[in-house]
Amino acid sequence: MVINAMEKIMQDLLDEYKSRLQLSCTCEQCLEDIMALTLNKTKPRYVTNVDKIMYIKADYVDKQQMTSLLVTLAECAKIVSDRPLCENSVKKVKGNEMSYM
Ligand SMILES: [Zn+2]
Repeated sequence: MVINAMEKIMQDLLDEYKSRLQLSCTCEQCLEDIMALTLNKTKPRYVTNVDKIMYIKADYVDKQQMTSLLVTLAECAKIVSDRPLCENSVKKVKGNEMSYM
């Protein structure tokens, strides 16, 4: 099994910081949009075993890299928050037909 360790690491980061990211919508689709955008901008780290994810995560802790992951996450959260594509928001915001994906 091949797993992108960044998926798990970013998911954890999002869970931890989503209350501080000032999201305009926190529905499942918006959170997934944020994850997809963030992961597209993040270099994948593939592992073949779930247990190895924690080693990669440990690599990021207390390092500048973690800060840059957070910056990317915050940027993507802002993009999605400014223009949410989910059904909850699509009727409210004008010009929402344009996709950023
Ligand atoms: Zn939403």
